[in-house]
Amino acid sequence: MNLIALPAFADNYIWMLHDGDRAVVVDPGEAGPVEAALDAHRLTLAGILVTHHHGDHVGGVDALRPRLRGTVHGPRREDIPAPYEPLDDGDVVEVLGLRFDVIEVPGHTAGHIAYFHQGGEPVPLLFCGDTLFSGGCGRLFEGTPPQMHASLARLAALPGDTRVCCAHEYTLSNLRFAHAVEPGNEALARYAAWCEAERAQQRPTLPSTIARERAVNPFLRCDEPAVVAAAVAHGAPSRGGSDVFAALRQWKNEFR
Ligand SMILES: [Zn+2]
Ligand SMILES: [Zn+2]
Repeated sequence: MNLIALPAFADNYIWMLHDGDRAVVVDPGEAGPVEAALDAHRLTLAGILVTHHHGDHVGGVDALRPRLRGTVHGPRREDIPAPYEPLDDGDVVEVLGLRFDVIEVPGHTAGHIAYFHQGGEPVPLLFCGDTLFSGGCGRLFEGTPPQMHASLARLAALPGDTRVCCAHEYTLSNLRFAHAVEPGNEALARYAAWCEAERAQQRPTLPSTIARERAVNPFLRCDEPAVVAAAVAHGAPSRGGSDVFAALRQWKNEFR
């Protein structure tokens, strides 16, 4: 099984999983990069997975339908281009012979879902859209801080070797903020140096892993004393996880 990040727009990735014959894509915000990859590898488009309703994630769905030999899947509680197979928390999707569990992760949008493959073959995989980014998380357009905090906690509890396939290349700017929160985090400093080198070569910093995100991502570290202290210094009214999360998210919104 092959996993490819197709760059789209300024900083999106459309993730493609293929077996040399058939492909599935996640969040095709535009059709062009998908069509080019299907042609280059001579693949049939066997399915489309959508995480949430934003245009940079669904904009290419209708243009890809003529080539689609399968189903569009997406969150039931969002406005996704019809027809599509609506999914709820706990549902299971089979694509390319792989089983993906649907995890509802409200916060960035109200009905956002993520797709998790347990592993075995290949490794565990997570397609998390705009919920979890490497070193950061999505903005709260439709959800509340406690919702997003709970959503991220569900993702953080997945196996450490899970490949985290985020929908945007925001890593370097996220890590600048993470460093402001935790200047003493050595794992973060090492990872930032590696990411700088990757981006200098125009390579993606993704996929990440859940283990790495637990080590470097302040939004998954709301129980760490250094993160709690930084959040309290930036207005968190208590040391509770969702208050810490809310203060970090607000601080990040204003961070330059
Ligand atoms: Zn979005
Ligand atoms: Zn997006």
